[in-house]
Amino acid sequence: MNVLVVGGAGYIGSHVVRLLTKAGHETWVYDNLSRGHRQAVPTGRLIEASLTDRVRLEDTLRELRIDAVMHFAAFALVGESVEDPALYYNNNVVATLALLDAMRATNVRRMVFSSTTATYGVPERIPITEDEPQTPINPYGFSKLVIEQALQDYAKAYGLGFAALRYFNAAGATPDGDLGEDPRPESHLIPIVLQVALGQREKIAIFGEDYPTQDGTCIRDYIHVDDLGDAHIKALQQIEPGKQIKLNLGTGRGDSVREVIEACRRVTGHPIPTEIGVRRPGDPPELVADSTRAQQQLDWQPRYNSIESIIQTAWNWHRGHPHGFSE
Ligand code: UDP
Repeated sequence: MNVLVVGGAGYIGSHVVRLLTKAGHETWVYDNLSRGHRQAVPTGRLIEASLTDRVRLEDTLRELRIDAVMHFAAFALVGESVEDPALYYNNNVVATLALLDAMRATNVRRMVFSSTTATYGVPERIPITEDEPQTPINPYGFSKLVIEQALQDYAKAYGLGFAALRYFNAAGATPDGDLGEDPRPESHLIPIVLQVALGQREKIAIFGEDYPTQDGTCIRDYIHVDDLGDAHIKALQQIEPGKQIKLNLGTGRGDSVREVIEACRRVTGHPIPTEIGVRRPGDPPELVADSTRAQQQLDWQPRYNSIESIIQTAWNWHRGHPHGFSE
């Protein structure tokens, strides 16, 4: 298929581009490089433009004879979305609606959409199934839920086919260590802990130790970025115009902040000092996936089955690229 990867210069998108290319798809990246990196995109495959440039977007979809769009171009930081919701509604909602309009105008009827566990808010049941009510508690989660709803409505009215993939916590890097996570500003737990191991930070602040969990710190389901990517490629093959696919992508295993830090100590051999900070607004105590539906429907299994194995790949990347893509 001819696939346009919107936001393909970012962390998850760039890993998916590699996997798509390996699977034999013709792949191009459409990215404004506001948070992505030119170096993460294969040479000659980048269209540097914004989703609000309607003419450029429609020309691209037509000229490259795009069959499917994968859409990763979103802001995804819970704390930032609480502080600056306008950024999130404009980028994640308004720009995505522009993309959907351009797809309608050019008759592109397949989309893989990056959704999120943040659409569930504070879930009633753990592990979380796709039937859990979607009641977000932060603007990031709302911005993604609005688009999930739009996709459903567009599927019914206009015959759009889509897969909304609800990610748990993407982590890790390519096993060869030459592609990884380099967001600016860095806010994710594992990269920050590894920056402590590299001597770039003194310590890691644990955002709250008074949560109703076993050790008092938040529990998340960390899934390797290539496992996420494999699921995208399998989902792509199943999308047909009008068909709706909604799936959780996680491992079903939860690790607390303290457990992640402990695993980083084992992988890096560094003591990693910690300090207790206050809770970060918008953080639910526990998010762990039930991804049985994805496993069955996509015939997919995550291959990285321990937090150490995921952290090991992230460590290979960070050690080899202590300043990310800027070297
Ligand atoms: N976290 C932390 N200290 C940090 C960064 C994150 O304690 O410096 C916690 C955060 O509160 C959450 C977990 O680590 O419970 C994972 O956060 P991250 O930002 O990596 O992902 P999110 O769950 O927000 O998608």
